[in-house]
Amino acid sequence: MATRADVLRELGLLPVWRLRAKPAPSRGIVGVEPIEPRPTSAGENAGPSARRPPSSPRMPAAVVPESQPATAADARLQRIAALEWKAFAADVDACTACGLCRTRNKSVPGVGDARAQWLFVGEAPGAEEDAKGEPFVGQAGRLLDSMLAAIGMRRGENVYIANVLKCRPPGNRTPEPMEAEACRPYLDRQIALIAPRLIVALGRSAATTLLNLDATIASLRGRVHRYRGVPLVVTYHPAYLLRNLPDKAKAWEDLCLARATLRRLQEGPGPSSERGSASG
Ligand code: URA
Repeated sequence: MATRADVLRELGLLPVWRLRAKPAPSRGIVGVEPIEPRPTSAGENAGPSARRPPSSPRMPAAVVPESQPATAADARLQRIAALEWKAFAADVDACTACGLCRTRNKSVPGVGDARAQWLFVGEAPGAEEDAKGEPFVGQAGRLLDSMLAAIGMRRGENVYIANVLKCRPPGNRTPEPMEAEACRPYLDRQIALIAPRLIVALGRSAATTLLNLDATIASLRGRVHRYRGVPLVVTYHPAYLLRNLPDKAKAWEDLCLARATLRRLQEGPGPSSERGSASG
């Protein structure tokens, strides 16, 4: 008489898979392991598992961790690099990686269309942003909105706005390198999630952080750089423009370069699509 195993084999249903009763201890992943058909008589199904000595340790294949972080800092980097949008803001809000967490009122993760083609990156929240939890809502933000309007765009519509730092430096001082370093994984993750077609770096802090170099704004303007393959255009920070109105004309040129770069990308690769670009 055919056994249950014979029938399952005939139907191509071996091995049978079933959820393990207990979830894997460290990662909360429910593992699966193959289950050999239960023997119905002595000597049946004497496959590999039946031959395994009862005491041999067993690690289910599906729960072997890919890599174990060496340190708490590595674990943090791994966690941030895997964040999804729904957990992003709460993670930023719980961050204590630098001293700014002690002086901030609200963290300022970013705002806008989560799949925007345009990403604008500023330096750090100011007083109004710190009070509201949203970037560029003060005077500089109003100028940024006018800059967007000048190229036919609006905050939140195909645009995402973020900062290098997610917390306000006291007195709006320039971010310390250590603060930018600590916050950078969040910016990198935002950019990976948004997958923008173009990045506009507003001011030196954003430009040098994203391009990982030390240079002046003047030397970086007027060319198309790259952040992990994404075209990046550098322009003046709106707060600087408020103090240096004549440079608004240069900022306009930068926005035109940004818009032309995106248009070229949308039109597809052509013989001149990389003209004028430089890697950064
Ligand atoms: N300046 C910035 O760089 N970011 C803001 O959010 C506000 C002012």
